[in-house]
Amino acid sequence: MIPESFEYFAPTSVQEAVSLAQRHGEEAKFLSGGHSLLPMMKLRLAAPKFVIDLGGIRELTQITEESGKFKIGALVTHHALESSEKIRSRCQLLAQTAAQIGDPQVRNCGTLGGSISHADPAADYPAALLALEVEMEVEGPGGRRRISAADFFVDLFTSALKPGELLVAVHVPVLESNVGSAYKKLRQQASGFAIAGAAAIVAKDEGGKCHRIAIGVTGVGPKAFRATAAEKALLGKSLTEKNIEKACHQVASGIDVQGDIHASSDYRRAMADVFARRAVLAAAGLSQ
Ligand code: FAD
Repeated sequence: MIPESFEYFAPTSVQEAVSLAQRHGEEAKFLSGGHSLLPMMKLRLAAPKFVIDLGGIRELTQITEESGKFKIGALVTHHALESSEKIRSRCQLLAQTAAQIGDPQVRNCGTLGGSISHADPAADYPAALLALEVEMEVEGPGGRRRISAADFFVDLFTSALKPGELLVAVHVPVLESNVGSAYKKLRQQASGFAIAGAAAIVAKDEGGKCHRIAIGVTGVGPKAFRATAAEKALLGKSLTEKNIEKACHQVASGIDVQGDIHASSDYRRAMADVFARRAVLAAAGLSQ
């Protein structure tokens, strides 16, 4: 349980962190909350020779507003998100998702940026970030660029970050007061990771018909995905229990669903339907 030895750096700016990563190439790793990287190092599944601790970079710890969106620094912890008054009131989905991660210790140390850079297929945020259609702001040797959530999650533990690129912030839209949202998951009992999790955003027009819907699903396939067939089936329809149940059927159709010691692939597939349905029902105000 003791990691291999490594050289430690504590940069104080994004530029310094990026140039350290560039200098040390594939032998270097960024460190945020350490809740995924340190266990991997202790188990010798990762053995970086250089660890670049992002903890001293103030820019990464802020939640600000820019062009009508929240700009959430990569180092903002799960706890900071679940307890931020402005996130709770104007992007409840994100606060609700953060609040369901792990346990208080994990939420106090783990960060938004660390979680999504790690691209764990059972992580909670990707479902919400896909439904919210956020953008990731990243900086690398080639400068800053933005990546949409749809392009960011590439595969099992693989994101669209290029070698040496640092995730700086996530740009998250504010949800207007007439928009309902919810995140529901089946927790893996020991860790809390999602065996199946779904985030839903819905809005109804004056006649009660659904005119906006987004459903993100995590924990089920190698990466999170949008349940587009269910979204299509509900758009323009009344958000009744019957319509929602009918639409949230086989949401993981076409997804390579893996089984493991926690759940078989058939069970995960079935739970994807159940939790997508629960998320949409809650977002539509038809259940808690
Ligand atoms: P780190 O461990 O520091 O880094 C993770 C990886 O991302 C590393 O490869 C690192 O180099 C890279 N990285 C970190 N920051 C950046 C950056 N800014 N730019 C580019 N690369 C970066 N997660 C859930 O979603 N749901 C759960 O229920 C859950 N339960 C957990 C229970 C336990 C007991 C533990 C230990 C973890 C759990 N987690 C869960 C994971 C937790 O949310 C971690 O916060 C997350 O995996 C990684 O975030 P971190 O800040 O600790 O990143």
